[in-house]
Amino acid sequence: MKKILTIILVLLSSLTFAKINVVTTTTIIYDLVKNIGKDEVNIVYLCRGNQDPHFLEVLPSYMLKLRKADLVFKVGLGLEKWLPQLIDGSRNTDIKEIDLSKEIQKLEVPTKRLNASYGDIHPYGNPHYYLAPNQVKIMLTEILDALISEDPDKADYFTKNYEKYVKKLDSKIIDWKNKMKTAESKPVVFFHASWIYFSTEFNLNIKGYVEPKPGIPPSPSHNAKTIRLVKKLGIKLIVMENYYDDSAPNQIAEITGVKVLKVPVGIWGMEGINSYFDMMDYIVNNITANI
Ligand SMILES: [Zn+2]
Repeated sequence: MKKILTIILVLLSSLTFAKINVVTTTTIIYDLVKNIGKDEVNIVYLCRGNQDPHFLEVLPSYMLKLRKADLVFKVGLGLEKWLPQLIDGSRNTDIKEIDLSKEIQKLEVPTKRLNASYGDIHPYGNPHYYLAPNQVKIMLTEILDALISEDPDKADYFTKNYEKYVKKLDSKIIDWKNKMKTAESKPVVFFHASWIYFSTEFNLNIKGYVEPKPGIPPSPSHNAKTIRLVKKLGIKLIVMENYYDDSAPNQIAEITGVKVLKVPVGIWGMEGINSYFDMMDYIVNNITANI
């Protein structure tokens, strides 16, 4: 009798207190889900904050992380080309994929079919919307909906956390916009085409990219073109994700005197970057200080 009671109690507690098992493809999504799910989610991420999410090695350890997941959150728009293979390998047929790009107003959607030589790593539009805080608000709504539909009993808890986070984000957006006023309309070159949503939100004037096409490494002829552009327009700043090879930007800098700014675009992508707020503070403070 005692044994049966214990079993019933264990079963009951696992029903009442079961947490949602979440995997996120990136650390930014991890940070957002964690802030809404808090103690009610068991959460891990796949791609580290200092890794390029376009190219993640398919490892058995990632499949293991996915094995028991209820939900996997992704950026979508073809960013995580490696995810289907990982989900297949995990043999988890119950996993639900939440594509956070669903409600995003996509920018740079190609009008013609791309192929590898032309740069095909942004096949459905630019996937780097998470660098624009107002797009992050759309992601947060999607995350809230997904957590509530997975565990409706905790709707109030998730909603309360969501509201608290959005309130803080809103005040940070005002702060970032004020700071970025000094950079408004100023010409800038980026390494990879990941800054269109950011630049649209903060009125930066993107003049070019060090990569000839997204995912295509810099070539001598394209470098020469960038050097001419930097000289002609008096561009002061090249901004790049800290996981890219900086040899081409450094070459351009040697000839033109342009400053190369390396920024983290993931949580824990650099020492001291422990949240989305830290990351955006770093990006905004360093762009405004150098542009
Ligand atoms: Zn990209």
